[in-house]
Amino acid sequence: MTAHSDEHERTMAFAEIAIGQIKALRQPATPRVYEVWYAYATGYNPSLNETINETLARNGTLSDTDIDQIYDTYLSPTRLGDRINKVGSRVMDEIEQVMAMVDNAVGSASSYTESLAGVSQQLHSADREGLRAIVEGLVQTAKEMEDVNQKLEARLNASKQEINQLQENLEVVRTESLTDPLTSLANRKFFDQAMAKAIVDAAAGQEPMSLMLTDIDHFKTFNDTYGHLTGDQVLRLVALSVKQNVKGQDLAARYGGEEFAVILPNTVLRSAVTVADHIRRAVMAKELMKRSTGEHLGRVTISIGVATLRADDTVASLIGRADACLYAAKRNGRNRVICESDPEVAPAAMQTQVA
Ligand code: GH3
Ligand code: MG
Ligand code: MG
Repeated sequence: MTAHSDEHERTMAFAEIAIGQIKALRQPATPRVYEVWYAYATGYNPSLNETINETLARNGTLSDTDIDQIYDTYLSPTRLGDRINKVGSRVMDEIEQVMAMVDNAVGSASSYTESLAGVSQQLHSADREGLRAIVEGLVQTAKEMEDVNQKLEARLNASKQEINQLQENLEVVRTESLTDPLTSLANRKFFDQAMAKAIVDAAAGQEPMSLMLTDIDHFKTFNDTYGHLTGDQVLRLVALSVKQNVKGQDLAARYGGEEFAVILPNTVLRSAVTVADHIRRAVMAKELMKRSTGEHLGRVTISIGVATLRADDTVASLIGRADACLYAAKRNGRNRVICESDPEVAPAAMQTQVA
């Protein structure tokens, strides 16, 4: 189900939408203009679409400056890197400032020690008046020390807050880089990392673990009939059905264009099939309607393949069996869940493949 031809069709459809917009607005077909419209067609970045829609509503077109701004804000490949670098350099600034304060405090402390040493020498020869001067001097130096300490404490507190804030920012950037913007599910990168970890954890704890792969049925026809942007809304809806029917340690991800995957730690095959069937029913139950026009769009269904971890599995072999089950679900009429113990699956596809 993840063949290159799917990807080709999908990207060609987005390309057509992008070129269509460029033609309709009579814009120069530069790579940057194309990239902006291509991103618009995919709907991956809802904020980009919102900005474009607002600009179009206001001005009827996108000027060169609008394109540049949108590109810089949403698409520039250095954007994420820039943000990480900025946070990094702010952390360095903070550390430098704190180090300077600490140096300063250390300097004051050693001059305090020196003045105490001086005092202990003077004490031997001091008379009454001399003693008074020494004590006054000591009180003064102690006050200065206290002052320096208070400043240092305040600065350290401010720094602590600033660093906490920076850590939160970094967490936001990190989450963004692992989230699919269209559906808010984990993206493929997150899925790949989570799969590798789930397999290691399951093996270490000798626990079961299952995987499901879902694919929307006849989605190409849906897109061709109602358009890709409506198709994208349906993708969000299917993602929501997936999300609402998994819980706890389960990880739902957008695996590909219209394919979702769920990793189910601590779950045997039968239970994973039950979860899969809930998702399938939830999707099928939704009567789709175009929000802007109220037009009824019918329903979509999904097919699901489910496999469970074996002792000698790798990420690829487990995905391969779930994919073979998904393929069997498609072959056997779609809108169904097939797992690796079902008779519909070709036994050869369920044998562990040695690469
Ligand atoms: P099948 O039942 O065999 O799965 O039929 P299908 O038409 O769904 O075929 P396939 O799984 O190969 O679907 C690929 C299609 O999914 C191509 C494209 O039209 C659509 N698609 C893939 N990704 C996206 C996306 O991000 N947005 C939209 N709107 N459509 C997508
Ligand atoms: Mg597909
Ligand atoms: Mg499909």
